[in-house]
Amino acid sequence: MATVKDFSVEEKLVALLTLQKIDSKGDEIKTLKGELPMEVKDLEDEIAGLQTRISNINAEIDSIDSFIEKENEGKKDAAALGKKYEKQLDNVKNNREAEALNKEIEMQDLEVKLREKHIKDAQIEQTERRAQRTRTEDRISVLEEAAAGKRTELEKIIADTEKEEKKLAKESNAAKEHVDPRMLSAYERIRSSYPNGLAVVPVLRDSCGGCFNVIPPQRQSEIRQRKKIVVCEHCGRILVDNDLNETVKVKL
Ligand SMILES: [Zn+2]
Repeated sequence: MATVKDFSVEEKLVALLTLQKIDSKGDEIKTLKGELPMEVKDLEDEIAGLQTRISNINAEIDSIDSFIEKENEGKKDAAALGKKYEKQLDNVKNNREAEALNKEIEMQDLEVKLREKHIKDAQIEQTERRAQRTRTEDRISVLEEAAAGKRTELEKIIADTEKEEKKLAKESNAAKEHVDPRMLSAYERIRSSYPNGLAVVPVLRDSCGGCFNVIPPQRQSEIRQRKKIVVCEHCGRILVDNDLNETVKVKL
């Protein structure tokens, strides 16, 4: 069996590129898993917000209830007072007294009407609040159903990706064995220093596929020759020509 030292630069690049593609696939899964719990959390946050809104609506309904109760009492008192004055009218001694009583009766009558108006307005508001509560409850039901579906989906994906992640980790380790040890340590160092985990990139449209800086034609031709390892002078990533990049495919 040949050791890695006997491999040509091109073979070393292929080994490295293979490793990169396996690792990138693993990165993709991690990203996917990272977003799904977020979606569930967003739904749960929205539900919690709506439940707070329902509590607020309930408090408002309660306060309107007490207001209506208070207005009803005020109305009853005014009506009773009006009746009392009406009775007193039967025993008035003079016109002045009758006039004063009539004025009081009129005032109590106005008071009753005003309280009735308050009650009517409050009842309209009460109806609006109840409708608002029903709408909010309906929305919560819809969101809860969606959250439940997402949770199931998430559990399934976690179960599925766990299998795939284990497989990818195994493949990654296997691929590492074909990579020149010095190149492997460079690969791991570069990979860990970039959030997208890319250490080996193709030249695309005369530019580095990692940092998108232009690669001079002379260096591009060196890269195409595959006789030596060329790194991007801007970002330090290992460069391969796009033909090689497209040739190397990982079956996963
Ligand atoms: Zn670069």
